[in-house]
Amino acid sequence: MRRPWRILILLLVLVLVAAVTVWERLWVRAWTRPLAVAIYPVAMDAASQGFVAQLRAGDFREIGVFLASESGRWSRGKSVPLPRMVLKPTIRELPPLEQARSGAEAIRLSLRLRWYAFRQTSFWESLGGVRLFVLYHQPRHDETLPHSLGLKKGLLGVVHVFATDEQRAQNNVVIAHELLHTLGATDKYDETGKPIYPVGFADPYAEPRYPQDKAEIVAGRIAVSEHRAEIPRDLGQTVIGYATAAEIGW
Ligand SMILES: [Zn+2]
Repeated sequence: MRRPWRILILLLVLVLVAAVTVWERLWVRAWTRPLAVAIYPVAMDAASQGFVAQLRAGDFREIGVFLASESGRWSRGKSVPLPRMVLKPTIRELPPLEQARSGAEAIRLSLRLRWYAFRQTSFWESLGGVRLFVLYHQPRHDETLPHSLGLKKGLLGVVHVFATDEQRAQNNVVIAHELLHTLGATDKYDETGKPIYPVGFADPYAEPRYPQDKAEIVAGRIAVSEHRAEIPRDLGQTVIGYATAAEIGW
């Protein structure tokens, strides 16, 4: 093919991708239809394969229920339609896992992740929905999980969780946190991991301010005292705060 044609086709593809991205953002932020959230499980080790094989869509249902019930507190008392949590077949190929350390690396990682998602999932089925690649690990004493990631552009997330029954409820907290990032929510904790006041507090008006009963979900922790914050056990110990609600269009 002649060079000007190649450039023209590449430009057209870029314009099309940008247009789809903008349309998807507007579409999900309108909250007029039930949000479709597709979960693609990935077993990260041989020991996690059995756990992944027995996952059911019902394991994730509470995430949709959580979003719908929290929206009722912010959207003038009217809940958004119950999001549809769909469990997809297991994926064998791993997504790109490097951590971005600069703006340029973040852009590269985002493009690689979008290319991975394009190859692994059906384009038409995922249009206007969120795709979360949930990576299951065996817990090890000496290891913490890599950082999870939720991207607004492309409505994509890579979520690291543990492959054990005891962690199921907490896994859903992590999945809901990254899902909210894909919808436009920003983190609300400081560099030490403590919730930022007031946006990262479940109840900023509580008197006294500490201890808080619950965590703001994208702040990640319950502010127990000025110097201590605890990880919530399950979604029942979390809320969506006013700043996050505004960011996701409620
Ligand atoms: Zn986060």
